[in-house]
Amino acid sequence: MRLINIDVDSEPDCLKKLRNENKTYDDLKDDCLKKVRKLLNTQQEGYCAYCEQKFKSIVFIEHYISQQEDNTQDLMFSNFLGVCSGKFYVDKKTGKHIAHCDTSRGATPLTINPKLQEHIDTIFYDENGRIASTNPDFNKDIDDILNLNFEELIELRDKEFKRNFYNLSKFARQFKLSKKETYKRGLKASNSGKMDFPSYLSYRYKKLLERING
Ligand SMILES: [Zn+2]
Repeated sequence: MRLINIDVDSEPDCLKKLRNENKTYDDLKDDCLKKVRKLLNTQQEGYCAYCEQKFKSIVFIEHYISQQEDNTQDLMFSNFLGVCSGKFYVDKKTGKHIAHCDTSRGATPLTINPKLQEHIDTIFYDENGRIASTNPDFNKDIDDILNLNFEELIELRDKEFKRNFYNLSKFARQFKLSKKETYKRGLKASNSGKMDFPSYLSYRYKKLLERING
């Protein structure tokens, strides 16, 4: 999970208009819905707010404070997060899937908030790609509510790091880079906005750098 910085002032005028007219979330559609999705995509650099996979199709809109909790916030841009479909397909034909992110969460309140730096600062990973927090409540959110540690997702995270590491090592051999230069390059690439799971990748490269710096 990474810090989500959304500029609340950038919200589309059409959304403000809906609020001023006392409309509900069901009235957010067509062009206005497209605008909101596009804006969340840009501001989140193309990443799901929870699992950090790049958006593959449309950006789903998540209410951080769910509509069941407080429906007065259902058209507040400040309450929106862009999330993925929340479905890991085990079998595309039958539609059998594992629910994660907001699909797993439903309307359960969350303690962890990806918009708060102090929450994100508690996040760490293990070498197999498991995400965790030093805060037990956040951990519960990560494991049980958002379901961010099922086997297939852990594997995807680890694969993304290994693929990146493999390519980088090849490049480093070719150009005779030192370990330090290599890992620094890896860290930079992790945050280039091109890879899935950027905070996991940076975490691993930071650990490698720490190790050689003693
Ligand atoms: Zn997701």
